[in-house]
Amino acid sequence: MVLDDLGTSLRSSLDTLQGKTRLDEDDVEEIVKEIQRSLLSADVDVSLVMELSDSIETRALEEEPPGGTTARDHVLKIVYEEMVALVGDSTALPLESQTILLAGLQGSGKTTSAAKMAWWFSTKGLRPAVIQTDTFRPGAYDQAKQMAERAEVDFYGDPDGDDPVEIAREGMEATADADVRIVDTAGRHALEDDLIAEIEEIEREVDPDRSLLVLDAAIGQGAKDQARQFEESIGIDGVVITKLDGTAKGGGALTAVNETGSSIAFLGSGETVQDIERFEPSGFISRLLGMGDLKQLSERVERAMQETQEEDDDWDPEDMLEGSFTLKDMKKQMDAMNRMGPLDQVMDMIPGMGGGMMDQLPDDAMDVTQDRMRKFERIMDSMTDEELENPRVVGQERTRRIARGSGTDEETVRQLLEQHSMMERTIEQFQGMGEGDMQRMMKKMGG
Ligand code: GDP
Repeated sequence: MVLDDLGTSLRSSLDTLQGKTRLDEDDVEEIVKEIQRSLLSADVDVSLVMELSDSIETRALEEEPPGGTTARDHVLKIVYEEMVALVGDSTALPLESQTILLAGLQGSGKTTSAAKMAWWFSTKGLRPAVIQTDTFRPGAYDQAKQMAERAEVDFYGDPDGDDPVEIAREGMEATADADVRIVDTAGRHALEDDLIAEIEEIEREVDPDRSLLVLDAAIGQGAKDQARQFEESIGIDGVVITKLDGTAKGGGALTAVNETGSSIAFLGSGETVQDIERFEPSGFISRLLGMGDLKQLSERVERAMQETQEEDDDWDPEDMLEGSFTLKDMKKQMDAMNRMGPLDQVMDMIPGMGGGMMDQLPDDAMDVTQDRMRKFERIMDSMTDEELENPRVVGQERTRRIARGSGTDEETVRQLLEQHSMMERTIEQFQGMGEGDMQRMMKKMGG
């Protein structure tokens, strides 16, 4: 994830403060150096880095930690607050009728983001439409149309048209029923005069309420010039950072935000239409610093549970808290987990499980887990209904057969059964809790 290195190195230098209640100058200098090093290597602009590290240094030395706070928590709080101030607020996006223009270089993720944003608005109860004006890139029309279909939103484009401004005009008319129109534009490999001229004309034609610059998180120092040019030509209200799921550094995008005096609107983290989230500074920085993001996590859990439930009317997660916890329930839970997205992203959102813990796992540990989940699923597919309802009936002979039937091995079948009984015990503990305890726990988990 973006600035990943910052979270990791910051945590390790903060760990050296363990047990201390007061900070001395050497401690602060050490930490500030660490922060500078990681921000610079993540391509954050030098002057921004200096600004940030100066304020952290001054505050860490001057502010008195409140009684009972450790030096570590004191610094962490200051770093957190300064980072939140650096990334700024999220771009204001009222949930009302509006036209949004997307700008950016080719390959930055505009077309993908247009569909993702449309999907996002649709989850808020609005009716969005994507207007595709890119006549430059072969395949842009088909790609945009397909993604709009997947997002289940209205779409306008003209596969035979060659005048983007004309397409934009027709698109605005054709999507008159929509509340939110997202206008995708062509990019080029580099900023060329004709690209700027074209987007200026489209801007005049559609008269957007907001223009957003789409930037690949991997963009480095080049972000600054690009941001300035788009800012001068059409004015940038916000930035969409894409491909945060890659090994991106992300610093360039932060620099662009600063250069345009704008803010971050959305974060993209994958290739499907649901891989988008609204930027929220505090959650974002908490995740970055390994403090977890409970709000995002609980939203994702809720959505995944809802989808799983929609698919199977008979299954209600609340039943698990009443009757017995069967393998069928476990399978549903795994389906829901799968919908939440890659496990490592989910883990990043859990306080205490974020960066720090993940760093201690080998890189492929998560893949192994997902691989195992897939095996578990195959095993469950090979089991009879009776076995799924009551896994205790599975004996030696059945274990052997199930392993063969599912193309796995006996060890994995046994692991599945063990995992099930472990989860069953946990659920039983929940069941033993009073109503009040349960509510308190849900609240704690971000409700
Ligand atoms: P455009 O030229 O700006 O319209 O860029 P596209 O939307 O076509 O995106 C370029 C490539 O990046 C495509 O292969 C997309 O699937 C991919 N892409 C876009 N956003 C993301 C993202 O958030 N994560 C990942 N992994 N890939 C993305």
